[in-house]
Amino acid sequence: MEHIQRLEQEIDHLKKTLQEKENELFEMKRNWMPMQSNGIQPEFTTLYSRNENNVTKVQYGDKLPKWAIERYSRQILLPDIGVAGQEKLCNSKVLIVGAGGLGCPAALYLAGAGIGEIGIVDYDKVDLTNIHRQILHAECDQNKSKAESAAETLKSINSNIKITPYTIQLDSSNALDIIYKFDVILDCTDNVPTRYLLNDACVMAKLPLISGSALKMEGQLTVYGYRSERNINEKDVYQGVCYRCVFPNPPPAETVGSCSANGVAGPVPGVIGALQALEAIKLLVGHTHDKLLVERFLIFDGDEVTFRTVKLRSRDLNCPVCSENPTMTKLIDYEVFCKAQAKEKDLDLQILAPEYRINANQLNEQLRNNFNTNQRHLLIDVRSEAEFNMCRIDGAVNYPIEQFRDAKVDEVLKMVNQNSQVTFICRRGNDSQLAAKIVLDEVDEDHKSRVKDVIGGLHAWSENVDRNFPVY
Ligand SMILES: [Zn+2]
Repeated sequence: MEHIQRLEQEIDHLKKTLQEKENELFEMKRNWMPMQSNGIQPEFTTLYSRNENNVTKVQYGDKLPKWAIERYSRQILLPDIGVAGQEKLCNSKVLIVGAGGLGCPAALYLAGAGIGEIGIVDYDKVDLTNIHRQILHAECDQNKSKAESAAETLKSINSNIKITPYTIQLDSSNALDIIYKFDVILDCTDNVPTRYLLNDACVMAKLPLISGSALKMEGQLTVYGYRSERNINEKDVYQGVCYRCVFPNPPPAETVGSCSANGVAGPVPGVIGALQALEAIKLLVGHTHDKLLVERFLIFDGDEVTFRTVKLRSRDLNCPVCSENPTMTKLIDYEVFCKAQAKEKDLDLQILAPEYRINANQLNEQLRNNFNTNQRHLLIDVRSEAEFNMCRIDGAVNYPIEQFRDAKVDEVLKMVNQNSQVTFICRRGNDSQLAAKIVLDEVDEDHKSRVKDVIGGLHAWSENVDRNFPVY
């Protein structure tokens, strides 16, 4: 035991030393090599073309410094980027909101491409469950700020660019101040209030918003708020839709899925995040709107391995935020507007009256008593089969909430009416309330007290009863 503690202390000390050395190296490189974020100044090259009888002076375009040509040559070779495009990239500033499954791959490619400054916003800390998809964070980054952890990895990818981490929750009071410093914004978040906040802020600041999302095996991508006047390659005045034009009203909070509740295959946000970076690069080098995902919505289906693009509705000429005469000219409280929290991904619903709820310690006591007294007690776990297979309380039966409604209600009602105790449990104590309510609505009044649900579900069980029970 002592040996383990000594080794852990030694490793901690070495990690700190490594971090200091990396920072020192970064500062040295910063002083010795020109930072792109200070701008790469165009230079003209004069070359001589010789033919049989005379020498013609030919002036070529801008010239990049040697290190930049070497570093970015593979993309400069593309006619769509070239030297001029690379200069634009080196002088651009991109803000990535969310250093998670989408933000990590997007930031990685944008840092590699030499974007002059990358800002990264994330209030959260790195958690072990993040690492299968959030590829800028490693095991040793657990409990570190995600924005800081992402910035450190990006510095190791490209020390010629500026990385600005923002460990904050973006809201109406700070969003505009931050996004005004950038040219393009990437929405790599996972909640509806922040999507509306970013949309409105980007429309007000006249900045394009590249919006991605990923859940389970499916990903989506589009570009909102595109404005042609910012692109010298556009001939006509053109303005693409904003998020509000397409989704004027937020969806009910309980219908919105999350990676923590529904799961996600790591490579799916990887695909979408990489495409967000690609759209940002195309936008910055001056692709016109017909070559970008403007008013088009990309859907990636990882199950079928297909990409589909659907046409979005045209811009809403009465849109409250992006129309000619907007009714919304200031940012609002988006948590109130969406009736959902931007920070906490899992809701704590209050569906049942307190007398039908027990806590994890009470459940533990009951299970022990039942064992001693042989009383009939059915503990019903209403999570999905995949979750039940991951971890469960001994003796629990699995009736997933979706199937419970149709197939199991009668069976459970019969048991309750025959004096059995029935307790519902789920991961956090929301679905278990829904299932208990279905039974409570049907059961005889005298038997109602035999139906319970566990407050806080298996998370509470892990915290209060069995520390070895996995939290996921
Ligand atoms: Zn709009």
